[in-house]
Amino acid sequence: MLLSRNVELVYLSDCVMDMSSREIHLMDLYRGELESWGWSYTLPSSSSSFATARTTEDKHRVELHSAPRVLGKLFDDERGMKEYLAEMEKCGGTSRCRPPAIHRLLQSRACRGAVMFGDALSKTDCKHIISKLSECDTPFSCAHGRPSIYPLVDLSKIPPKGKFEEF
Ligand SMILES: [Zn+2]
Repeated sequence: MLLSRNVELVYLSDCVMDMSSREIHLMDLYRGELESWGWSYTLPSSSSSFATARTTEDKHRVELHSAPRVLGKLFDDERGMKEYLAEMEKCGGTSRCRPPAIHRLLQSRACRGAVMFGDALSKTDCKHIISKLSECDTPFSCAHGRPSIYPLVDLSKIPPKGKFEEF
């Protein structure tokens, strides 16, 4: 199953995560968000288990039924889940909060297909890129914080004689 172009849903069997009572509470609270990324799971059943979880090992066990695979990498690890839950708690569970491990992977791949200096672009390509950039929160830098736009010429300094052909 494909959740989006880059996120694939993978079904798992016998996958268990050891989580703290607090994390189990957060997995319950943010279930909708987690499921929208492809994680589905069964939490320890009794709600009273949260109080006694410290003493019983089994009460910490979360059964994971599915996890997302992004660009070929499966995100079924406990550490990544704990990190995401901590992040969700910090930002109050908004959908803008991405799983940090997935975010890092996307960042690392983000610029591989970037347009480089000297690449030839058609007018259509240019218009498409500018229009897509206008949809970005931070159009002037890439995912790594490097500049994505560079001034080549100050149009106001060009004499009218050498007028550019209109786009
Ligand atoms: Zn970059």
